[in-house]
Amino acid sequence: MQNQSLYGTRGRVEVIKGDITRMEVDAIVNAANKSLLGGGGVDGAIHRAAGRDLLEECKTLGGCETGRAKATKGYKLPAGMVIHTVGPVWRGGDRGEPELLHSCYVNSLELAVQRDARTVAFPSISTGVYGYPIDKAAGIACRAVKGMLEQYPPEKLEKVYFVCFDDRAYKTYMDLLSIFD
Ligand code: ADP
Repeated sequence: MQNQSLYGTRGRVEVIKGDITRMEVDAIVNAANKSLLGGGGVDGAIHRAAGRDLLEECKTLGGCETGRAKATKGYKLPAGMVIHTVGPVWRGGDRGEPELLHSCYVNSLELAVQRDARTVAFPSISTGVYGYPIDKAAGIACRAVKGMLEQYPPEKLEKVYFVCFDDRAYKTYMDLLSIFD
């Protein structure tokens, strides 16, 4: 579907190998940093693709705490909205990282539902520069999304995409898809 040829689907969840900036969905989620003023990785790619107006709106938001989420328009992106969430930096796993990462997914989807975004695409939050091990992070992501899909009907939350940039992340998410059976 869309820009990708590799994907797997199960119910209201789809795992895709590709670039999140090209997703034609109601909202894409950005793995931002607390300043919300742009950065490297997926954050940089989203800001480049959305254009300068995204940064201007982000400047008005006053940053964001780890585990929380804030929304902006999508500007030049095919997605109408960007939900900026701040993942935890991995520090060994006993500094609240699992709970904070779980909160990123839950709070992003709560905000999406509040703003009538029914199709939402996530990158693999915290697993780049922030160093969260992909197998652990993907498990948390899938469990959090599963909980939200159980809570909201398809009229509120139609489809959630996990957009994986590399083979390792893609394989990890594909192996977890069966939890959505
Ligand atoms: P964090 O700081 O939260 O770790 P990164 O942007 O460094 O965020 O990495 C998060 C994940 O996003 C990584 O798995 C990285 O490979 C992936 N990524 C980078 N660019 C893109 C993109 N254009 N689309 C989807 N995922 C991307």
